[in-house]
Amino acid sequence: MSAKLINGNALSKILRAEVAQRAAALTARGTQPGLAVLLVGENPASQVYVRNKIKACEDNGLYSLHEQHPAEMSEAALLQRIAELNADPRIHGILVQLPLPAHIDSHKVIEAIAPEKDVDGFHVANAGALMTGQPRFQPCTPYGVMKMFESEHIALKGANAVVIGRSNIVGKPMALMLINAGATVTVCSSQTRDLAAHTRAADIVVVATGRRNILTAEMVKPGATVIDVGMNRDDAGKLCGDVDFGPVSEVAGFITPVPGGVGPMTITMLLVNTIESAERAAL
Ligand code: NAP
Repeated sequence: MSAKLINGNALSKILRAEVAQRAAALTARGTQPGLAVLLVGENPASQVYVRNKIKACEDNGLYSLHEQHPAEMSEAALLQRIAELNADPRIHGILVQLPLPAHIDSHKVIEAIAPEKDVDGFHVANAGALMTGQPRFQPCTPYGVMKMFESEHIALKGANAVVIGRSNIVGKPMALMLINAGATVTVCSSQTRDLAAHTRAADIVVVATGRRNILTAEMVKPGATVIDVGMNRDDAGKLCGDVDFGPVSEVAGFITPVPGGVGPMTITMLLVNTIESAERAAL
């Protein structure tokens, strides 16, 4: 393997130690940072994500409120609960785990969260703030990727960056953050005609599709930085990303593994956003 591994676990450890310090300082001044995590229904993957988020709060001195609601919960009841949490001074961050059951309009739910407690950064006010280059809460996954670039001193100004995926939670905010950092950004999707033509010209490729092995070695410029956001299961049921990791790591300059790459960074940035929210509230 020639690529340098960007270790999300190691970087998370450093950033979470800073979070724990800031949480302790805030708590000593009378404001313990608090995160509410709401789960509706019993999606097993969502249950794992929520457990990991709650544990990360507990491990780093944040107060966490974990609410598990039945799949039949009405949209009105969920909106009512969010309104209560918006007004609760112990809570600085509100996260509603997606996906929601089909009878609930997730757009309406996200918009019901007070923008100043929207630590996921999905509310239109926060999406707009990112778009205009004045971000408040940035979506945790791409924000974590930006921290990975920073930690390895990977130059973004003038770099050709390709983002594969255009979702509101990963692809689009990732593209905006790279644009704000001065990269020349191309966003690819399932409609892109010749994906390899784009990726081969890229200094940085961020892959966020949920499609195994969508990025193979011959699609990567030697020395490029490859960030794998994808989370899939291989034939043996093991967690894997979107990148054909072994061969691509022979060509790339930097690469993130799955697991142990972007995943832990996402939770770390959720803690960072919650701390920032609590710091603002304590001013
Ligand atoms: P999503 O909403 O399903 O979006 C997937 C994107 O990939 C879409 O924009 C889609 O294009 C594009 N795509 C699909 N097939 C493609 C192809 N053959 N060529 C080019 N683009 C293609 O997914 P998401 O929420 O962004 O998540 C993406 C992946 O990241 C998933 O595996 C998810 O589990 C993972 N994820 C990981 C973390 C983490 O913390 N590590 C956090 C969030 C998500 P169209 O728009 O044209 O359909």
